Amino acid sequence: MVNNWINIIQEYCLPPTCLFCNEPSHNPRDLCSFCEKALPRNKDCCIHCGQPMTLANNPSICGQCLTNPPYFDSTLAPFRYQRTVRYAIQSFKYHNNYNFARLLGELLANEIATEKTLPQRLIPVPLHASRYRERGFNQAFEIAKIISQHHKIPVDNCSLQRRRPTDYQSHLKAKSRSQNIKNAFLLSQKITVPHVAIIDDVMTTGNTVNELARMLKTAGVQNVDVWVCARA
Ligand SMILES: [Zn+2]
Ligand SMILES: [Zn+2]
Repeated sequence: MVNNWINIIQEYCLPPTCLFCNEPSHNPRDLCSFCEKALPRNKDCCIHCGQPMTLANNPSICGQCLTNPPYFDSTLAPFRYQRTVRYAIQSFKYHNNYNFARLLGELLANEIATEKTLPQRLIPVPLHASRYRERGFNQAFEIAKIISQHHKIPVDNCSLQRRRPTDYQSHLKAKSRSQNIKNAFLLSQKITVPHVAIIDDVMTTGNTVNELARMLKTAGVQNVDVWVCARA
């Protein structure tokens, strides 16, 4: 209780401090202008799946999207999974540093202001119950809640569920990742809106969000966007 009050008083009385370098931030976010400029932005990337590309022949579509178009309609992945952004995601996910969740959510929410048509629901990539118990939270849901506050889009955290605890995706090779994700999810209730955005912290191969988009489209959702903080 006392700690809660100390946190509240600190939040209102002390200027925000940059989470990366501890300097005063001079803006409402916990991020100084120097560290903001140094964020690894995902500028040259596939216009469909956000995959970083080496050639800057914009607008460009990656080979994978050309040969095997994904089920989702677009990807917003403003940062690369590198340096400070990677540190922020890992501090949040594996060390429960919630300040980074707020910062990542705010940075992503800030990018969404430029999107033309907004979805009617935010759907966080679900975590299996056993992993949820282990971690104590779902990072995708935490980010979705912050975007929801900024853009007034409701979060649907119950229609999609994870059937079984999949092996940690990051430990698997590309081929076993796509097999690992097959039938991993369950749509437990009907989605009644035509346009949704799937939310996650980081997108690696895109197999997880693609499988979710496939299920949502099969269930009648017309537009599925993918919004992630970072693209690996
Ligand atoms: Zn800084
Ligand atoms: Zn692509």
